[in-house]
Amino acid sequence: MDIKQLDSTYIAPTYARFPVVLTSGKGAMLKDEDGKEYIDMGSGIAVNTFGICDSVWQNAVIQQINTLQHTSNLFYTQPCAELAQILCQKTGFKEVFFSNSGAEANECAIKAARKYGKENLGDEYYNIVTLKNSFHGRTLATIAATGQDAFHKDFLPLTEGFVYAEANNIDDVKKIISENKCAAVMIETIQGEGGVMPLDFEFVKALRKLTDEHNMLLIVDEVQTGNGRTGKLFGYMHSGIMPDIVTTAKGLGGGLPIGATMFGEKVKGILSAGTHGSTFGGNPICCAGAASIMKRLDDNLMNEVTKKGEFIKNELSCADGVESVSGLGLMIGIKATKNADDVVSLCREKGVLVLKAKDKIRLLPPLSITYEQLEKAVNTIKEVCAL
Ligand SMILES: *Cc1c(COP(=O)(O)O)cnc(C)c1O
Repeated sequence: MDIKQLDSTYIAPTYARFPVVLTSGKGAMLKDEDGKEYIDMGSGIAVNTFGICDSVWQNAVIQQINTLQHTSNLFYTQPCAELAQILCQKTGFKEVFFSNSGAEANECAIKAARKYGKENLGDEYYNIVTLKNSFHGRTLATIAATGQDAFHKDFLPLTEGFVYAEANNIDDVKKIISENKCAAVMIETIQGEGGVMPLDFEFVKALRKLTDEHNMLLIVDEVQTGNGRTGKLFGYMHSGIMPDIVTTAKGLGGGLPIGATMFGEKVKGILSAGTHGSTFGGNPICCAGAASIMKRLDDNLMNEVTKKGEFIKNELSCADGVESVSGLGLMIGIKATKNADDVVSLCREKGVLVLKAKDKIRLLPPLSITYEQLEKAVNTIKEVCAL
């Protein structure tokens, strides 16, 4: 059997895969089993922050593999302590819990919010307001947090304790808070899976004010928008606010699984010994790779990401067959006249791998993509949209 047949025979059919077997790559280039080359405009869904086989990341990971791969959380290790320090120093958060994925980072935030509500507001204050059209993961709690029925319908009953408000509608959030006993509001600064829909900065600021007034927490899910993706280290930084809890994953590991939940002053120490844990969380190899990534996300790189994003937006926003372009930095959504699935497959045929989010084409290239690669990819997308 070839690889596609093996996969469809033995792998649970939860993924509608593209008909491509990827075998290797370098930077923003990928190669398939037939030797065909592609420009990677997806980074494994915002994961490969510096592309494939980036040598700095590789060296950090390989050095750690050759030293110590795992200890369990019963012991201290250097990479996990160092990564937590870097995250806190770069953001002002006070402490970090490490897990292995975005959903787990959010589970941790949800548990923390429930404990916070119980201890600070009252026993019944366990509800968390999330937004319609949001996406927070695939576990039972995080599908309940996800404000889209499509993710709920096969898995009822949903985990209790989530109430949904309209994005960019502060009055609706106020109404929901007045009708339910709530511990927190949880948002993505740009709804990624929901179609690259940015929240208004003013709405984010208003949520900060509202949650402060009610002594509630503001949780920001930066699993996709974090780690430099939008041209700031984290998406909330565009609004000039400080959340109480921020979760991240995807690009943090640069290609290895890691999730992080960062706690601010108001919730420092909330998850006390024995209340939460993870066998693999804080794994030395993942943390060594992540620390090497975090160290490189400086102002210069953020300016580059912003400029590259503006280049894409300028090129595409007035192109034939493009109705609108949304997003920030290198997280971009394109509404084309043509069906998004058709754009994705035509681009692939022409050697450019792009993603989809709802009815949009979604671009999440490695932050290190060169202008030459970017130009080529954008020209292909334009060509396909104009067909
Ligand atoms: C991808 C994503 C998740 C889920 O992350 P996993 O690592 O797949 O569990 C959660 N929230 C947001 C905003 C995401 O984009």
